[in-house]
Amino acid sequence: MQQSSYSSFHPPQRKLMGPGPSDVNPRILEALSRPTIGHLDPLFIGMMDELKNLLRYTFQTENEVTLPISAPGSAGMECCFANLVEPGDKVIVCCNGAFGGRMKENVIRCGGEAIIVDDPWGRAVDPAKVEAALKANPDACILAFVHAETSTGALSDAEALTKLAHEYDCLTIVDAVTSLAGVPLKVDEWELDAVYSGTQKCLSCIPGLSPVTFNERAMAKVKNRQSKVQSWFLDLNLMLGYWDGEGKRAYHHTAPINPLYGLHEALCILYSEGLENSWDRHRAQHNDLKAGLERMGLELSVPEAERLPQLNAVIIPEGVDDSTVRNLLLTDYNLEIGTGLGDSAGKLWRIGLMGYSANSGNVLYCLSALETVLNKHSN
Ligand SMILES: *Cc1c(COP(=O)(O)O)cnc(C)c1O
Repeated sequence: MQQSSYSSFHPPQRKLMGPGPSDVNPRILEALSRPTIGHLDPLFIGMMDELKNLLRYTFQTENEVTLPISAPGSAGMECCFANLVEPGDKVIVCCNGAFGGRMKENVIRCGGEAIIVDDPWGRAVDPAKVEAALKANPDACILAFVHAETSTGALSDAEALTKLAHEYDCLTIVDAVTSLAGVPLKVDEWELDAVYSGTQKCLSCIPGLSPVTFNERAMAKVKNRQSKVQSWFLDLNLMLGYWDGEGKRAYHHTAPINPLYGLHEALCILYSEGLENSWDRHRAQHNDLKAGLERMGLELSVPEAERLPQLNAVIIPEGVDDSTVRNLLLTDYNLEIGTGLGDSAGKLWRIGLMGYSANSGNVLYCLSALETVLNKHSN
């Protein structure tokens, strides 16, 4: 049914403290509204080169192949699997939350065989189980895992898992969507092979872009494939003609011009803050949030040593209704927090402290809004 008239959409100013998107820095919103220019304009190409450098800094890598895919984090995931997994490849996939399950689905759709290493939701990936799987499957060629499981709030040891993978001649595919800029992630030092991330978590940019980086080992596998990458859009060999062609860039697709201005601005902000300072800020805000939640008698569900500072999974107290509380926070306080996924739906809240959202004002606001709503709700 058509309405008689339509007017512009004006969303309210929310505080985004869920699992993503996070609050977008106003500097980034301003950058998005700058004039659109052509995607082969020399000035735009100069900006793309800066973007690649800034992404290398953010990933802590010298990898030549470092670029933002023109689609959300899920497309970065798909790009890694589509390029690296050939039909018949055996891939060990660590499943300790929702995103591991998606990795498995990607392997199958690429014609690979997924060997699953299961860990309980809310825990880190257990390196001993991974080693057992590597030992039992000497013909496996890739190990895939999620560094920061946003569905549960657990952080896994990307360096240790990659070391193991290399001992057994496997490459790694690492999901760093939520870890990038929120906790230490050192692609070169830890020798991670293919890594994808997203713009809407700790980079505090708008959703819709996925930075990826591939080292030479990973690119060698891509270049030596027997079969074509089954996705035309995500085929790195084609995409690099646009992102990498020295002075002779070939049209591949029209880059999302303004979103890339936004990412450039987000990375400039991060660069001037400094990556280590960003990691420290996420940790410090997490400590304050945790202390406040504990004063209210609330508990975090992930064991302390495996907790992500930027995603806090809080156990919903007995007798408290998840959606009532979240709806009141949204309608009365313009505050968004997340609910649990899968089995933890209705049992956990997921409070994000990502990027621009990780500041003391937000922590105080969230604690007092939650306390007020819980007091009212339990009376
Ligand atoms: C958010 C997220 C994704 C997917 O990113 P989208 O931008 O939503 O496509 C993948 N993996 C993890 C760990 C995430 O948190």
